Amino acid sequence: MRRPTVLVVDDDAFSRTVVSKKLKALANVIEAEDGHDALCRMQGVRIDLAIVDLEIPRFNGLDLIKCMRGMPSLKHIPIIVLTANETRGGLEGALMGGATSFLLKPLNWSAFGEHIRHVLELAYRAGHLALHDHLTGLPNRVQLNERLENALSLVQPGALVAIHMLDLDQFKKVNDTMGHPAGDRLLELVAERLRTLVRGADTVARMGGDEFAIVQPAISGPSDAATLAQRIVSVVGEPYDISGVQVVIGTTIGISIAGTPGCKPENELRNADIALYRAKKAGRGTFCFFDTGMDLALHERHELSLDLAQAVENKQFELFYQPVVGLESDRIKAFEALIRWRHPRKGLVPPGAFLTLAEQLGLILPLGEWVLEEACMAAQSWPQDLCVAVNLSPTHFRSKGLVDAVRRALDKSGLDPRRLEIDVTEAILLRDPGTALAVLHELRALGVRIAMDDFGTGYSSISHLHSFPFDKVKIDQSFVEKMMANRSSLNVVRAVATLANGLGIEATAEGVETEEQLAAIRAEGCTEMQGFLSSEPVPAGEIPLLLLEEQLRNSDGPARAPRGQPSASKPVREAPRVPARKAAGT
Ligand code: C2E
Ligand code: MG
Repeated sequence: MRRPTVLVVDDDAFSRTVVSKKLKALANVIEAEDGHDALCRMQGVRIDLAIVDLEIPRFNGLDLIKCMRGMPSLKHIPIIVLTANETRGGLEGALMGGATSFLLKPLNWSAFGEHIRHVLELAYRAGHLALHDHLTGLPNRVQLNERLENALSLVQPGALVAIHMLDLDQFKKVNDTMGHPAGDRLLELVAERLRTLVRGADTVARMGGDEFAIVQPAISGPSDAATLAQRIVSVVGEPYDISGVQVVIGTTIGISIAGTPGCKPENELRNADIALYRAKKAGRGTFCFFDTGMDLALHERHELSLDLAQAVENKQFELFYQPVVGLESDRIKAFEALIRWRHPRKGLVPPGAFLTLAEQLGLILPLGEWVLEEACMAAQSWPQDLCVAVNLSPTHFRSKGLVDAVRRALDKSGLDPRRLEIDVTEAILLRDPGTALAVLHELRALGVRIAMDDFGTGYSSISHLHSFPFDKVKIDQSFVEKMMANRSSLNVVRAVATLANGLGIEATAEGVETEEQLAAIRAEGCTEMQGFLSSEPVPAGEIPLLLLEEQLRNSDGPARAPRGQPSASKPVREAPRVPARKAAGT
């Protein structure tokens, strides 16, 4: 325990000396003869207790107390006032002004010693609690900051300070499945292990929850920090015995290295946090050093997050539409709605640049609902034989309100459900296939069509195509792109088209850009195509023009059914002749 420091303020030199003498056994003493003197002598000293005579010149005792309470380091220390019995009137004011207790003069010395000891003990305990984590007994965030500040101010030329930020992997799972007492025990055990791994000069702190931090002062280079981090990852990852149950967790660490003069604790902690975020993204159970590029990337991400949240609120999005052409009829059968963000400064932003972030920010649901409504409204104004395809994210699929959202969009627009196609990817069937299938069946009961999108990428399980009666399978554009040069891509196109034909469903080839590719996918049995060869995605306003162009080209064929009329049967054509069109934002 650190030896405490007591400030004694009394204008009576004799009384002051006696008080100091009595205190010497318990603490270091600073003597001051008046309020002004006290303020001067306190500069740069950490005071644990103040004993103040109320009747002092130049700044009376009450003013001094008020002044001390205004200083952050003295806000919470005990202040005992001394007052002569005959002037007790000022006592109430002193207690109101911030004094914690009082002693009457002349002092009873045995009571005095007892009182001071008691007050110092309470102050120590309060100080300990203020600086330590109650569960693990480790220094807390406040103390870690102090130690880090200290380490940074003392760093010698050529030496460095490492700050490690740790996050436990799988801790939440233990807490949720085994209960909070087990979670608390686990944190205690982790704290014990961390204590054994560091040197005496290092500080291990608990920052809250399952987050710990370590300050490693006076290291000679980053490799010292890497060695410690490596040991932490391996030791924290060893099994724990919690009430007879073996538990295994891991840890991920972000490290910031400070050494240049002027490093600020808050910046170093933030940098370690950024590195931790990166380490988690790279795959847990590892460590990662901070570098300034990360800061920039994170800053950009932060900016984009703020912009995106605002964009959802202000509806800064637009739908572009890309035709899906039937290979048998050589005519547009549907349009796929593809979202774009009309960014106030960056212009038109493609979905690949913001959808993942929207997922992470929890914005994908309002966004998906907007797309559904907007696309259904648009389709309602098209000729009756045209469908609209809407992409839905797996997150949307896991949300409770998806079926209601689809129903609402249909009701609001009055669109025939058979004209809405929902494009889903295999990812929806991975996490909770039972729920996903139930939702698919509910959607099907509404009458909408369901397509398996981007097939062939990621998981490509044929069993997924058998698990639900999909209306269509869309072969990912990566296979179409490579099928002319690469045998295995050609084989995938062939296999999926054959399977789709066998199941009696449409096989749509995505990303068809050349006549050669078109001929190949046709030969392999695809029934629909989508791609720049027919048209890039276009704004809604250009759809009538696309349809007119198609009608002019096919003027010998039957006209498209206008709104509200059934479609005419279509003749078989050699190949789609819709010329390539370019649109912004693709
Ligand atoms: P997707 O569903 O596979 O959509 C097709 C993508 O391929 C579109 O990219 C389209 O512009 C592009 N594309 C079409 N033809 C060609 C071609 O011939 N060559 C090449 N290289 N690319 C072609 P886009 O619009 O950037 O969309 C990317 C993805 O973003 C979509 O892939 C879809 O998964 C997702 N997405 C788009 N809009 C939405 C939306 O409203 N909601 C959700 N959840 N996802 C969306
Ligand atoms: Mg799609």
